[in-house]
Amino acid sequence: MPKSLKSQLTSTILAIVLITIIVISFLANIFINRKFTDYVARQQELKIQIIVSSLSEQYSASTEQWDIQYLQAIGMFSLYEGYIIRVYDKGGNTLWDAMSHDMSLCNQIMDKISRRMELEYPRLDGEFVSTDYDLVKDGKAVGMVSISCFGPFFLNENDVNFLHSLNTILIIIALAASLASLLVCHIMAARISRPILKTVDATRQIAEGKYEIRLEEESRIREIKLLEGTINHLAGSLETLERMRKQLTADVAHELRTPISILQSYLEAMTEGIWEATSERLASCQEEVVRIGKLVGDLEQLTRIEADNLKLEKSEVDLRLLIEKTVNAFEAELKDKGLTVTISGASPHLMADNDRLKQVVANLLSNSIKYSDSGKSIYFEIFDAGKSCGFVIRDMGTGIDSEELPFIFERFYRADKSRNRNTGGSGIGLAIVKSIVHAHGGEVTVQSEKNAGSAFTVTLPKK
Ligand code: ADP
Repeated sequence: MPKSLKSQLTSTILAIVLITIIVISFLANIFINRKFTDYVARQQELKIQIIVSSLSEQYSASTEQWDIQYLQAIGMFSLYEGYIIRVYDKGGNTLWDAMSHDMSLCNQIMDKISRRMELEYPRLDGEFVSTDYDLVKDGKAVGMVSISCFGPFFLNENDVNFLHSLNTILIIIALAASLASLLVCHIMAARISRPILKTVDATRQIAEGKYEIRLEEESRIREIKLLEGTINHLAGSLETLERMRKQLTADVAHELRTPISILQSYLEAMTEGIWEATSERLASCQEEVVRIGKLVGDLEQLTRIEADNLKLEKSEVDLRLLIEKTVNAFEAELKDKGLTVTISGASPHLMADNDRLKQVVANLLSNSIKYSDSGKSIYFEIFDAGKSCGFVIRDMGTGIDSEELPFIFERFYRADKSRNRNTGGSGIGLAIVKSIVHAHGGEVTVQSEKNAGSAFTVTLPKK
């Protein structure tokens, strides 16, 4: 089962945050510990100096006497701090000894320190060691003190509390950072996954045929916005296709209805004996059958071209030569109607599908022939505009109403319907032209004036 984006993102970020916190805590711990023990050791030396100097102060040079009461006070104070002292006079006689003063208290304190250090620094392997210091007053040695404390260093209760609270703070920071990162991950993942889920939902609906669905392109993440845009584009294309499909079915039905109903009524009248089956009536029937056949043929061609639009077989084409060859193929028809064709202008070369381009020229020329009265002229003007080239085909035919101009490239559209039935057009020729030109990345436009003539301009990119 694949993981959701949210949990994948959350677990990855959380893992990164946790690793970072652990590494930082570990390094901080080592660093702080080292600095702290240095500090504690220095503090210890300082304390010993203070003990020694305050002990020395208790000797009176004038009376050559020690203030035993004060010695004891200093001794007890030092004991509670973890220093067990024994003070001697200059003759080596014991003046005050913590051990003999209160052995159980001394043992209790030593035990507490040893246990604390064993717990905090199990690998330190320390023990109580005694060091002797001279007691000096006014430059003269007046006695000696032996100070016993846990070495190489020891922590008192406050120090341990300090270290513990430091660790607690580190743990709290780690927890807070993990929580914060979890929250950020959650928000971030939601931001990414919400539009993706919306897109998935929209795509599902599109797949079910709801092509009118559109996504609001509101995501602030570029890739997701792009995805939303593409889905909308896809839905738009599908919607157009669907409309075209429905339109095509309706159009085909509509186009077939007229010849079929004519055929039906003729044949019915003839079989029921109302009409005699004269050769003229049979010829009319045949005409309708031919019309249906042509319509189906044209339709097949358009469908093939629209389906093949993406598969153009391009090669270098000499546009002038192509037009000349196509015109030659129409020689008989031109002669029949007494029309002349003039070709002028440049002779550019371009990359195009030769056969398809021939079809463009043929369809346009066939229209010009169809809609021109005999004796008129048709002109091809070829142009070369650097990156693009093309031609204009101009006739002096019937022309097209300005209201009808915008629709003539649509399938089945026939201007001047009654008249067109006679010319045998099915309204597909220009749809094929537009389809091929667009597949080449080109453009086809028309200018026309009723009863004066029409000019179709085809522009194609050279590459
Ligand atoms: P058709 O098979 O009916 O000619 P087209 O798609 O080729 O179908 O053309 C659509 C309509 O445009 C035609 O019915 C006609 O009315 C008009 N048309 C096209 N070319 C010309 C032209 N050269 N002169 C006048 N009308 C034209």
